Amino acid sequence: MKIGIYPGSFDPITLGHSDIIRRASDLVDQLIIGVLNNSSKHPAFTVEERVEMIKKVTKDIPNVTVESFSGLTVDFAKQKDARILVRGLRAVTDFEYELQIAQLNHKLHPGLDTIFLTTSVEYSYLSSSSVREIGSYGGDISGFVPKEVLKDVYDKIYKKKEN
Ligand code: ADP
Repeated sequence: MKIGIYPGSFDPITLGHSDIIRRASDLVDQLIIGVLNNSSKHPAFTVEERVEMIKKVTKDIPNVTVESFSGLTVDFAKQKDARILVRGLRAVTDFEYELQIAQLNHKLHPGLDTIFLTTSVEYSYLSSSSVREIGSYGGDISGFVPKEVLKDVYDKIYKKKEN
């Protein structure tokens, strides 16, 4: 059985992430989404909220599961018996960083190979941080996050004006 992991912060999940999840789920028997629980990053959404939102978005994809993890990605992969690590590439700017991480991970765990899926062009400009920024001012993020979690995202990040 070919098990893949797709690790990330997903703070929050965007349409770019869900596009990668759908396409990656076709390439492996089981895709485990690993939501990084890293308190030093001060995420806007708690790890439980991020896991729940991804579960809502992926509930119709039978071979996808979602869980949180902390520590090294390679240790999470070993624990899950995963041989494939999925990452998304938006632009050349992502490449240098992602290549370095992929090579480090391969050195730490030679049984794990990273595969990169290039983002669909319509999502190439999308990031969780831009969703947080635009949403915090009440801007329209409906084209950026999956509809299943649109309300959850607004409820958390829209800083409504007092009175
Ligand atoms: P990180 O894991 O670096 O904290 P994210 O949680 O935002 O970053 O992203 C997780 C993975 O999804 C990374 O591989 C990232 O390149 C990819 N990704 C982020 N945004 C998009 C997008 N708009 N389209 C495709 N892939 C994306």
